[in-house]
Amino acid sequence: MKIGIVGAGTMGSGIAQVACLSNCEVLIFDKNPKALEQVKLQSEKNIRRYLKRQKKTEDELNALFNQINYTENLEDFKNVNFCIEAIVENLEIKQQLFQELESIVSTDTVLATNTSSLSIASIASVLKHPERCLGVHFFNPAIMMPLVEVIPAVQTSQAVFDQVYGMIKSWGKTAVKAKDTPGFIVNRVARPFYGEALRILEEGIADVPTIDWAMTKLGKFRMGPFQLMDFIGNDVNYTVTETVFKAFYYDPRYKPSFTQKRLAEAGYLGRKSGKGFYDYTNEDKNPSPKKDEVLGYHILNRILVMLINEAADALFLNIASAEDIDLAMTKGVNYPKGLLEWANEKTLMWCEQRMDELYDIYREDRYRCSPIIRHLNQENKTFQID
Ligand code: NAD
Repeated sequence: MKIGIVGAGTMGSGIAQVACLSNCEVLIFDKNPKALEQVKLQSEKNIRRYLKRQKKTEDELNALFNQINYTENLEDFKNVNFCIEAIVENLEIKQQLFQELESIVSTDTVLATNTSSLSIASIASVLKHPERCLGVHFFNPAIMMPLVEVIPAVQTSQAVFDQVYGMIKSWGKTAVKAKDTPGFIVNRVARPFYGEALRILEEGIADVPTIDWAMTKLGKFRMGPFQLMDFIGNDVNYTVTETVFKAFYYDPRYKPSFTQKRLAEAGYLGRKSGKGFYDYTNEDKNPSPKKDEVLGYHILNRILVMLINEAADALFLNIASAEDIDLAMTKGVNYPKGLLEWANEKTLMWCEQRMDELYDIYREDRYRCSPIIRHLNQENKTFQID
């Protein structure tokens, strides 16, 4: 199988490593020669680290590295069987590239995009054969993160979807099927993790370290929302939220936060700039959390029920199956438990009551309880996860 990857940045490089480790021949194209030099060094370093425990010989490693080839000429893609695009997140530029690719590759080559936020249908729409186009959304770092969201567009043929879904699984990844809607599964369902934490901060209920403490120590999330926003970058995380908000026709559930916007505008981007919600130049200066369990569980339960409500609504609107929604959040963003499984444990009555309490306090549409939670609770049922 010959895989063509367009874009030698963070994601293109990661996907190349995954394909190479599955014994595929890989060809990477980037319009920037420096990016190609960089990706070679990065890929070899990451593969070496990934295989450290397997004690491969230098010859074996070199044979693997030689499976990845680099080109500054897109015409070299004429023999690839499967092509994944991971270039800049811009619809016009991606559409232009897909048209160019279609003029080079053979008629049965599948053309996939790794876009995080653009509609797959609009990318496919420029092709003469849009049925060969779909989304394959990897997570960063692709070599480590097991999840891949596979997203058929309205134009995608079932045969192409089945072929790609099977191939992603054969690469050892956890494939989930998601509808072509903003944020797919993970970037939609995860929004309240950031948004509700920011809202709690803005209302003055608790400070940054206390909210992070509640989510990590009491909720067992691997990182707190502010630690994670600083890690992702406040510019990047804000843009994703704003894109999802606009794409959902300004649904208040996804409303971005001024607090985060101002940090991004000030250049307080997080770890990469040395300062964000926390100061990384002098970590001793950061305030300590207030370890009050009553306050901590209030914070955890409020963010958790908003996450559960979002996951439930994604199921209600057939964005994905219950099993895939839970897999997506545990394998794509390392949540300690699937949100629908968590809802069953807490009971759907608990979920409905917490949502209604929030709605009674704020009278905002943001806090509307998903109909599926009400319905299942009324019927005394739970989410069916397998
Ligand atoms: P990046 O900036 O690290 O890399 C993009 C690469 O594409 C650069 O090397 C650039 O030179 C190249 N490029 C730009 N325009 C090109 C063109 N017309 N032809 C050829 N090469 C071109 O970006 P990234 O973070 O790897 O993101 C790539 C895609 O993956 C985006 O669509 C993004 O939304 C998506 N994505 C990113 C992440 C993430 O965490 N970074 C996760 C999932 C999906």
